Amino acid sequence: MKIVALAGGVGGAKLAHGLAQILSPEDLTVIVNTGDDFEHLGLTICPDLDTVCYTLAGLANSETGWGRVNETWNTISNIEKLGGPNWFRLGDQDFGTHIERTRRLKEGQSLSQITKDFCKAWGIKQTVLPMTDSPVRTIVDTDEGELAFQEYFVHRHCEPRVKGFRFDGVEVAEPASGAREAIESADAIVICPSNPWVSIDPILRVLSLTPAPLSHEERRKPIIAISPIIGGKTVKGPAAKMYAELGIEPSALAVAEHYRDLLTGFVLDIKDEQLSDKFRGKILATDTLMNSSADRARLAVDVLHFIGSL
Ligand code: GDP
Repeated sequence: MKIVALAGGVGGAKLAHGLAQILSPEDLTVIVNTGDDFEHLGLTICPDLDTVCYTLAGLANSETGWGRVNETWNTISNIEKLGGPNWFRLGDQDFGTHIERTRRLKEGQSLSQITKDFCKAWGIKQTVLPMTDSPVRTIVDTDEGELAFQEYFVHRHCEPRVKGFRFDGVEVAEPASGAREAIESADAIVICPSNPWVSIDPILRVLSLTPAPLSHEERRKPIIAISPIIGGKTVKGPAAKMYAELGIEPSALAVAEHYRDLLTGFVLDIKDEQLSDKFRGKILATDTLMNSSADRARLAVDVLHFIGSL
């Protein structure tokens, strides 16, 4: 079964890794959010893309949920000593990724080509695509005014109250080369348990998967989503806080409603099974918490069986 997974960072990377354990490498394409990307210390940093790649390569730091395992911190410590910005933590190995990516971008190479080369170097056999090669930047509208995404997320620890989002550059951004083709040839599209507002919405916008999919062909294609909200809370990150601040009660139901007509089926956690009869479409209630590598594979198997049953 050929699957296209739409992913942000942490939640997306975990399910992508689960799917990678089950599917043949040529059957999995992961299209990753680049709205969180930003320029910092003169470098282009792509947090979601790197989290997905590091996770698939077995190089991710599972404790932090970002960055590399066995990291050292000499460069950022030195920058800090010299009075430079230290709010965005970057390890020494991670710096290498951003330095080399920025060098290549400045040479005129596309982000998708660079990602392809990095995946090869890291031994990743699946296809990982940035959603677009054009810069798209998520801006969070808050009670303190507009903030660039990482300014809100990391520097301000998601403290300002959210009023809305916009994705700078999304109107002119074309899907990265290969993304449309991957969607066309996929048997199903899986929306990973990522933040709907800031990880998935930018991808859906770039791929024109909202409000209606690209073509009638895609309409017939199963599109399923897995809830990142379990028992009204996120496993990590601000998605539940964002729903609440936008006046929506955070729940799996709110996530399903967020994607509305796009979905053929929806996966929610077994803890939220009592919500199942509130959904109109096909529902799978299962254990969606991915603490271990085995959990990821188990959820991937459940998701693939569910798709098969649609
Ligand atoms: P970010 O860009 O790093 O914030 O990454 P994502 O948007 O992909 O991930 C954040 C979302 O993943 C949060 O809303 C979490 O609740 C969700 N998440 C993380 N781990 C899990 C998990 O094990 N199971 C489920 N269902 N959701 C998860």
